[in-house]
Amino acid sequence: MNATEQTDQQHSLWRRAWQPFFNLSVYGKFVLVLTSFLAGFILIGLHNLYFVNNLKEKLGQLQTNPSSSTIQDTINMADIYLQNGGFLVAGIMIILTITSFLSVRMMVSLLHDMTRGLRSVRNSAGETQGCQVVESIPIISNDEIGTVAREVNGIISDIQSISRFRRVIEADETTHDVYKRLAYVFQERLDLNTFVIWEVNKSEDSIEAVFTSPPDFEEEICQMSCANLCRAVRTGDIVSSTGYPGICPIFPLPDVMTHSCVPMMVGGQILGVVQFLFLYVNSPEREEHFKNSLRRARQYLMEALPVLHAKRLAQNLHQMAIRDTLTGLYNRRFLEGNINPILAGIQRRESNMAILMADMDFFKKVNDEYGHESGDSVLKALSHILQSEVRHSDLVIRYGGEEFLILLVDCHPKEFAIQVAEKIRSKVEGHQFRIEGGSLRKTLSIGISEFPGDTAAFWEAVKFADVALYRAKESGRNQVVRFDPSMWDTEDY
Ligand code: GH3
Ligand code: MG
Ligand code: MG
Repeated sequence: MNATEQTDQQHSLWRRAWQPFFNLSVYGKFVLVLTSFLAGFILIGLHNLYFVNNLKEKLGQLQTNPSSSTIQDTINMADIYLQNGGFLVAGIMIILTITSFLSVRMMVSLLHDMTRGLRSVRNSAGETQGCQVVESIPIISNDEIGTVAREVNGIISDIQSISRFRRVIEADETTHDVYKRLAYVFQERLDLNTFVIWEVNKSEDSIEAVFTSPPDFEEEICQMSCANLCRAVRTGDIVSSTGYPGICPIFPLPDVMTHSCVPMMVGGQILGVVQFLFLYVNSPEREEHFKNSLRRARQYLMEALPVLHAKRLAQNLHQMAIRDTLTGLYNRRFLEGNINPILAGIQRRESNMAILMADMDFFKKVNDEYGHESGDSVLKALSHILQSEVRHSDLVIRYGGEEFLILLVDCHPKEFAIQVAEKIRSKVEGHQFRIEGGSLRKTLSIGISEFPGDTAAFWEAVKFADVALYRAKESGRNQVVRFDPSMWDTEDY
């Protein structure tokens, strides 16, 4: 047994011996100290009375028989009483000192532990790396002091877990990661299992459920075509149906559940809403429990808000950099930054990719005859057609003004690329492009190459698709041309 274990054992023995005293309330301890004080005085009083009484008797005997043995008897008796009195006073003083010392020691050690705990919380508040573990205050008594210690422990652990949560979400990559982390806290720590996290896009006036718990609850949630339909978004206040049934007319389950919708506001701007849902419960304890969980959930949300805000700004900036603002399609910068992992995947799978370069025929005429705005709306409509005709896993990129690059990943069999291109071409040919004051028809030319079939150099394959497109234009437009190595040899390039 080492020295620490020995000390621990001594401590626990010491604690066990005094546990009944620790279990008393503060008033109980005070009454015990006072009672032992009074009992001590009464004992000393009784002792003195007894002594005086016996002394009186001995003095009476001395008066009638003043012999030396009686005198010695009286002196011996006085000695015994003096000795006993001394022991009695010392004993009472020792008990009083111990009980008072214990009471004061408990208070001092609690204050000391509280100061230590709070100081380490304060010291770890600015830390960005790691998490300093703050020891909880030992609870040795079941009285009001124990209650204070328990409360302080609760506060310290709340502060710690919230600041740890903040550090973790700051390192998360996307807002969705933060939502998932919030959801974990709601479910695992706060016993809040039914909720929906809504994300608001103010510029598009849209609201979208980005996290639903449980996942199959998705079909039961509010249906909102625009963000302002949500009362919490509109007012920026918590909307709770507890006490106000039917407060929100679009809530679909007013007879089964209550809801508490907490808006996520940063600097007057709304990022989203967290909607907590509870089955109707008729128990004050459960209601109190939910209220408590909601209060703590709001604390976590408050920590998450600035992080979510920063991440959304960063995401928007990133999107602005890699997307074309007119059509919403990826731009050439996105392609340059992201093509390598896509190519690596194709090579690993020993697969292929068809490259379609599409260009609208005589597009300049649209601008010249109908104006630039009409030209823009034709480009938007064209980008919708292109996206709707390919799979989600394919990539449509606005490569230049009215030039679009379409990457058909894992394009098997090889003729499939020509079929897709032909489908797109005929779709555009048959489409009525709406412009201000009417509509018009346009055609599309498409050049196709294949990676790595035509060349293992991706940008060269893009060039080959461009060469095939040039050939399509040359051959009369409104057609699909597959690249052939013979085209590359021509002196035109
Ligand atoms: P073809 O391709 O059939 O040879 O003829 P074209 O008239 O389409 O040829 P060209 O590539 O020379 O013209 C492209 C035009 O597209 C020129 C430019 O003004 C226009 N354009 C490019 N970007 C935009 C845009 O964002 N909006 C609008 N409205 N026009 C654009
Ligand atoms: Mg063109
Ligand atoms: Mg062009």
